[in-house]
Amino acid sequence: MDYENLLKRALEKMPKKTTSTGERFDIPKIKGHVEGNKTIISNFKELCDILRRDQKLVLKYLQRELATPAIIDGQRLILGRKLSSQLINQKIEQFTNDFVLCKECKKPDTQLLKEGEFTIMKCMACGAKGSVRGNM
Ligand SMILES: [Zn+2]
Repeated sequence: MDYENLLKRALEKMPKKTTSTGERFDIPKIKGHVEGNKTIISNFKELCDILRRDQKLVLKYLQRELATPAIIDGQRLILGRKLSSQLINQKIEQFTNDFVLCKECKKPDTQLLKEGEFTIMKCMACGAKGSVRGNM
């Protein structure tokens, strides 16, 4: 093992500051195509797995944000009109920021909890708790 690797190892062992912006969560991109006047997202299940969110929640969000009816079909999501994948990716990114990433440490290790009529996001990594924009 050379010096550079040793240094890397030592750095990895150091406790991470919560203010660190080094580790950014990669927001997954959709694989989508248009079929007739519908838009199919073929990696919808995979996407929800990466985001660790219930497919029904993501479905509800996309329906509302895109003002388009949608249904889950196995691994896929079928949206009821033609949409650009750029627009859908934008909404997924927004969803990730609002409902997945911790507002404090930006890690995706969060859970959504119901507190009364409000939805609260609790971070498993740093323990931060925050309210979620919009009611889901
Ligand atoms: Zn956190």
